[in-house]
Amino acid sequence: MLFDTHAHLNATQFNEDVEQVIERARAEGVSHIVVVGFDRPTIQRAIKLAEQYSFIYAAVGWHPVDAIHMTDEDLTMIERLASHPKVVALGEMGLDYYWDQSPKEVQKEVFRKQIRLAKKVKLPIIIHNRDATADIVHILQEEHAEEVGGVMHCFSGSIEVARQCIDMNFYISFGGPVTFKNAKKPKEVAKEIPLNRLLIETDCPYLTPHPFRGKRNEPSYVKYVAEAIAELKGLSFEEVAQKTSDNAKRLFGII
Ligand SMILES: [Zn+2]
Repeated sequence: MLFDTHAHLNATQFNEDVEQVIERARAEGVSHIVVVGFDRPTIQRAIKLAEQYSFIYAAVGWHPVDAIHMTDEDLTMIERLASHPKVVALGEMGLDYYWDQSPKEVQKEVFRKQIRLAKKVKLPIIIHNRDATADIVHILQEEHAEEVGGVMHCFSGSIEVARQCIDMNFYISFGGPVTFKNAKKPKEVAKEIPLNRLLIETDCPYLTPHPFRGKRNEPSYVKYVAEAIAELKGLSFEEVAQKTSDNAKRLFGII
């Protein structure tokens, strides 16, 4: 049993063969997948996949890179979809100072609006953070995001920041980088923080784990993330798979 908490099967990279990709995931023991929307077309596609497959769930939200294009109508659409039975979270949302395609002030405003909406509809949030840790933590604190909690997706920060996020009712999710030989920080953090706050993900089609680094990522590879965490923590693969699945179900309210 493996729970891929962050997959973009809704991305154009899967247009040709999404059915086969999903079959391979099932064959490798993936029991649940959250498909994460990040703009208009990918939100619609996430909902469609969640309606099509019993073990696929959807998250709906607006990516910070594209924050400048989010309208009030988009926010209304996200609010409407929040009551869909297969929507388990709002996101991904957050701040991205690496690409810097939307002004920081716009990103912050769009982020705050989505946190407020999550509190209104009582759903956890999925956080995207790139080079913006201090502002993310500050906004989560100011907006009292601990009321809904959520997940720090593909976490790359320090142990101190991980603890701060856990204190705010967040889970820490690791993806492909935890399998990379040269990725010291995610390995250290994964080793250190308690198993009951850990999640695993692929963030496919991006961040492909070793030994497939450089190729397109897919949910069946989430087992390599679980293996790497098991090795770091000196636990069995089965225990990591089971506990991270239990954590994800608890967070997303899946029975
Ligand atoms: Zn993502």
